[in-house]
Amino acid sequence: MSPPEPGPLSIARVEAVVCRAPIDEPIVTSFGTIPERAGLFVRLEDADGVAGWGEVFGNFPAHGAENRCHLVRDYLAPIVTDEAWVSPAAAYEAMTRRTHVMALQGGEPGPFAQAIAGLDNAIWDLAARRAGVPLWRLLGGERDAVPTYASGLNPSNFEGIVEAKLAEGYRAFKIKIGFGRETDTGNLARMREIVGDLRVMTDVNQGWDMATAVQEMPHLAEFDLGWIEEPLPADRPLAEWREIKAASPAPLAAGENLRGDADFDAMIEAKVLDVVQPDMCKWGGVTGCLPLAKRIVAAGLTYCPHFLAGIVGLMSSAHLLAAAGGHGLLEVDANPNPLREVLAGGLPPIEDGIMTLPAGPGIGVEPDADLLKDFRVEL
Ligand SMILES: [Mg+2]
Repeated sequence: MSPPEPGPLSIARVEAVVCRAPIDEPIVTSFGTIPERAGLFVRLEDADGVAGWGEVFGNFPAHGAENRCHLVRDYLAPIVTDEAWVSPAAAYEAMTRRTHVMALQGGEPGPFAQAIAGLDNAIWDLAARRAGVPLWRLLGGERDAVPTYASGLNPSNFEGIVEAKLAEGYRAFKIKIGFGRETDTGNLARMREIVGDLRVMTDVNQGWDMATAVQEMPHLAEFDLGWIEEPLPADRPLAEWREIKAASPAPLAAGENLRGDADFDAMIEAKVLDVVQPDMCKWGGVTGCLPLAKRIVAAGLTYCPHFLAGIVGLMSSAHLLAAAGGHGLLEVDANPNPLREVLAGGLPPIEDGIMTLPAGPGIGVEPDADLLKDFRVEL
């Protein structure tokens, strides 16, 4: 099913801002560390002065946000301001078509897809603000609240963060594994001590090959995991995913490193994943990910948006999850990030694991102009 079409849109201005915020402890994953928090925020303004906000993936590698910022400014802004669009989907199609060869030439289909996704999110936010309704409602949703989980827990010093998140109202948690059996099982035992029988999920961050996964998975059985995420690199053949699926003591999750309908649909049809996790700031935006999320739910699988950066992308993801339906959880990074916690005045409150979305139009939040200046990197 296609997203609803909110009517003609005329984009007059595009602003792309890279922000960086220092953190005390780097984010540790099985593929590398992230030493500070980065965000790429896109602000659009239409001919009537109505604004829309979107976020582009820019977490990794270290200067990915700067690269995507230039893609937005130099290649995509001229396209979105070039004509009036009958719908956000029409702008998405034009951005994709008119940069296709450039992306191939530069070897950058991923970064272009990310920049297009963030712009698409901003266009949808603008459309919802023009209509005066929350984004979830414009997208045909039937609920204004979503279940959440506290994500991104590091393999060391996670205990204090888990306690704090429990006190904030979170009722499900995801910790990174793939650091060796002793560390992984020790951490999971510690997690169970702290959270009792609340939901605990794990993320391998593509850190195993098939032989390692088959070897390690049985040792996770005793922890009653909600899912095991990315046990293999995202580009491994379906035959390997099928084998892993048969060996896994818990549901399998992946999707943050897939791009394009064909790759997602192949994984959905193969029934190797129980939880599918597209990142709407990495590929697709609302235009690509709403129909995808509905296909995931219709296939009897769980749609859980992947997201781990600033407040804008988090709220876009929350609205999309609200609109898509199903039983999925919103991923909320548990690690400190001023670009999520401070930039727009804080997150909506979470009660007993449930986040109620702001009642205002669009995604319901806006970065504070002064704070945006404080975090801004001049490019
Ligand atoms: Mg992950």
